[in-house]
Amino acid sequence: MLTLLKNARLYAPAPLGLKHLLIADQRIAAILDPQDSPDIHLPGLTVQDLEGRRVIPGLVDPLVHMTGGGGEGGFGTRTPELRLEDAVSSGVTTLIGALGTDALTRTPANLLGKVRELAAGGLSCYAYTGSYQLPPVTLTGSVAQDILYIPEYIGVGEVAISDHRGSQPSVQELARLASDSRTAGMLAGKSGIVFIHTGDAAGGLEILREVARTTALPIAQFMPTHINRTATLFEDGLRFARDGGRIDLTTSTTPELLAEGEVPASEAVARALKARVEPSRVTLSSDANASLPRFDDHGRFIGLKAGRLDSLFEVVGECVNDHDIALENALGFASSHSADALGLARKGRLAVGQDADLLVLADDAWAIDEVWALGRCVHRRDTDR
Ligand code: ZN
Repeated sequence: MLTLLKNARLYAPAPLGLKHLLIADQRIAAILDPQDSPDIHLPGLTVQDLEGRRVIPGLVDPLVHMTGGGGEGGFGTRTPELRLEDAVSSGVTTLIGALGTDALTRTPANLLGKVRELAAGGLSCYAYTGSYQLPPVTLTGSVAQDILYIPEYIGVGEVAISDHRGSQPSVQELARLASDSRTAGMLAGKSGIVFIHTGDAAGGLEILREVARTTALPIAQFMPTHINRTATLFEDGLRFARDGGRIDLTTSTTPELLAEGEVPASEAVARALKARVEPSRVTLSSDANASLPRFDDHGRFIGLKAGRLDSLFEVVGECVNDHDIALENALGFASSHSADALGLARKGRLAVGQDADLLVLADDAWAIDEVWALGRCVHRRDTDR
């Protein structure tokens, strides 16, 4: 399958100007300058003129609860599965699935099945083995074997720290888990990343610092998320990132969570840049289909909403439009930074040899006209074009 996308205003994320993109099967085969590329004639070539519209990398989302993430108010509040039609229109073309609070009624087999369903729909899908609690639930009986033998598993997570819903892991337990994940990852050519759910309890990120202080494990083996959930945790996260750690910010939110002190993800990105945190250590994830529960001061459940996959694209737009961050800089937080952290070498950037995952943006608004995943157009917005 050969496709020529002509006159794309390319952000790789770096701005490359007007280019023609030649896609061969699932990959980008060539990036050509319009002025010095003669008309290309190849048998079976499909040509589409993008007329100068912006083309950006398909987004990489490090945390998607594709089987539904929780339901802390009883069975009637279980969050639903991610539907393929919602996934393909979101702008996210690489999704990392995770179990969450509920690893009892939702299982690793169920998650792997969902990963393969979304992959059959054209998206690139991976998963973490394990869940909130330790000892971790796995498919084969061990975290290391899951990562080593099952192609989709790239690490373990999301393991909960500083949260009343987690298993309150010790430094030794976390160190053992990270070591298993890291070693299996190295043997399999994967990141073996340890994706961490950070709650709002007082400990914050301290236990991760303690693992790094007391073992030979590098701090960057961990990818703690929800760092913008409170102002206190966010400040701690900035210090953590300046010391070499990674921080992941959650884009799904609710008016109630913001009123209670959550830092909006786009504001958090802007503040991280101002604080001179190395940008590549900061990523965004949607936490899609997770439960976003609220508890009162006595720990009683008072309500729940579900995370949204399309919040990732929205927040990149807010970075650009509300915080004056250049598009090429804003994009990294939802593409190249995540791909690098997760060890997904062919994702997150538009270059020759990379997977042809890309978004064609509308020219008059922050909206997606087309989603291309692995060289195929999987979604096209209804327009008069
Ligand atoms: Zn979480």
